[in-house]
Amino acid sequence: MLKATGIMKAYGNLPILKGVDFEVEKGEIVSIIGASGAGKSTLLHILGTLDKPDQGEVELNGVKINKLSGELLSVFRNQNIGFVFQFHHLLPEFTALENICIPAFIAKKPKKQAEDRAKELLGLLGLSDRAQHKPNQLSGGEQQRIAVARALVNNPAIILADEPSGNLDSANANSLHQFFISLRDNFNQTFVIVTHNEDLAKISNRVVTMKDGMILS
Ligand code: ADP
Ligand code: ADP
Repeated sequence: MLKATGIMKAYGNLPILKGVDFEVEKGEIVSIIGASGAGKSTLLHILGTLDKPDQGEVELNGVKINKLSGELLSVFRNQNIGFVFQFHHLLPEFTALENICIPAFIAKKPKKQAEDRAKELLGLLGLSDRAQHKPNQLSGGEQQRIAVARALVNNPAIILADEPSGNLDSANANSLHQFFISLRDNFNQTFVIVTHNEDLAKISNRVVTMKDGMILS
């Protein structure tokens, strides 16, 4: 479903990605591992249309995403790609339910439809009783699960996650990983995850190792 070919990226004169080919099938969890500075986040940003490659092409479900720009790109990204970062970036003045709904509101979905989907996700997460809580009333693990629900609200083709459990203790990390597995196994959800977490790498369908801007294995 996702195919990147010949991805090159430099910052100034410094080559960061030196010709990366990368493919993901629907329903896979693919982990990207490798030392700090290997280019993992840069690749993830390019796969997610947050950054453009200097050379090469990224296709998501047959759409050549580096040909999109402006409003078309924003709409495509919001509807097809869900992002999860190490820090949740929830909006502090909004409730958990409202935070989850934000990408759906950006996509101009009706309020009822957005809230029904958000409630469904809260149920899957076992967090239905937290719907009206503000982020500062939630634990770190709960906040991160809400951020994952927000990434899922528009039923994106793919979730791109950068160190999603990097800031969690092992119990919360484990519960987040179990949620990823259940989304994969029950809904065929696809993930690309940059991680240093060995447990997460173990439960992945494939592990891609990067070094110095290239894929090693
Ligand atoms: P990783 O995620 O594997 O740690 P990154 O993709 O974040 O690696 O970074 C790879 C290299 O690119 C690092 O040396 C980093 O300093 C550099 N880099 C990343 N983003 C930028 C940027 N916007 N401008 C300049 N250099 C950058
Ligand atoms: P990560 O921890 O995910 O690898 P980084 O700390 O490398 O992220 O980078 C965080 C942000 O800073 C990214 O958006 C990246 O593009 C930017 N960045 C990283 N390194 C540099 C750099 N040397 N110069 C400018 N921006 C950078």
